[in-house]
Amino acid sequence: KLAVVGSFVMDLITRVNEFPLEGQTLISDNFRCLPGGKGANQAMAAARLGANVMMFGKLGTDSYGDTFISVFKEAKVDISHVRQVEELPTAMGLIQINQHAENKIIVVPGANFGYTLEDLERDFEKICEADIVITQMELKPEVTFELIDRCYAKQIPVVLNPAPAADIPKKILSKVTYLTPNETELEILSGVPVYDEASAEKAIKALLEIGVGTVIATLGKKGAVIGNLSGFEYVKGYSVNAVDTVAAGDSFNGALVTRLIEGDTLSGAVAYANAVGALTVTKHGAIPSLPFSNEVEVFKKA
Ligand code: ADP
Repeated sequence: KLAVVGSFVMDLITRVNEFPLEGQTLISDNFRCLPGGKGANQAMAAARLGANVMMFGKLGTDSYGDTFISVFKEAKVDISHVRQVEELPTAMGLIQINQHAENKIIVVPGANFGYTLEDLERDFEKICEADIVITQMELKPEVTFELIDRCYAKQIPVVLNPAPAADIPKKILSKVTYLTPNETELEILSGVPVYDEASAEKAIKALLEIGVGTVIATLGKKGAVIGNLSGFEYVKGYSVNAVDTVAAGDSFNGALVTRLIEGDTLSGAVAYANAVGALTVTKHGAIPSLPFSNEVEVFKKA
């Protein structure tokens, strides 16, 4: 079983030719409302690949919260522990995109930040039923750090996808079993500028010295590199026609934990995650672009 402790974010996306000026009202004829958020994306990615997933987090009692509940029920994700609260809105991303593909984004963390230490305390017994726990940096940092502390104490392997990039205390990093940064996050967490293989290895080494168990750094179309006490292993990415890289990291993480729970080797799991990440960038959107296991089988044979 997989436990995902993380965020839900409803993305409200509108396209305009040019951004409105201060005080100006513009008309847009292009609007989409798409469920996402790193926690939700990773849970959905794992569920589509066949994992038995429990999700932990918080939603508002608004219609966006209801949408998430039905999307997750449909995907057979266990959301019996996700609470909907009246006092906070479901988290939102208010996104404007102009004709030059530039964006302006306001994030309202709402109910994601309403998931408190008390909620974690109450959910933790259930979380302990998991073989692996995965979390990201879209909840309140103190909650994420407490989760990692508790999993460490119970010897439950924990995957931290340190996204969006944030400062994380060394004491917490040292308790992470698998850390899965992209290149930007790797640079920020290690304090080492990353621009090529040698610098990436230097950055990973710095994190291993802090005490991170294994670092799996994603390298976009190049794939990923695994770093731990046995050294470095590069796992090549797949060459595809990329149309939208949204959720590539999320599907990679969902796939990685799915395969680790199934007992695959670390390099096998990373190779599989590369295939899933590659398939995700061939489609638009976040959740709509996450592949199902049969699609991955077909892709890997091709
Ligand atoms: P993030 O999306 O979090 O910035 P990456 O860009 O490193 O993370 O992508 C995560 C994973 O998705 C990569 O390790 C790779 O497996 C896959 N991926 C991303 N971009 C591409 C691409 N253009 N072609 C093939 N695979 C990709």
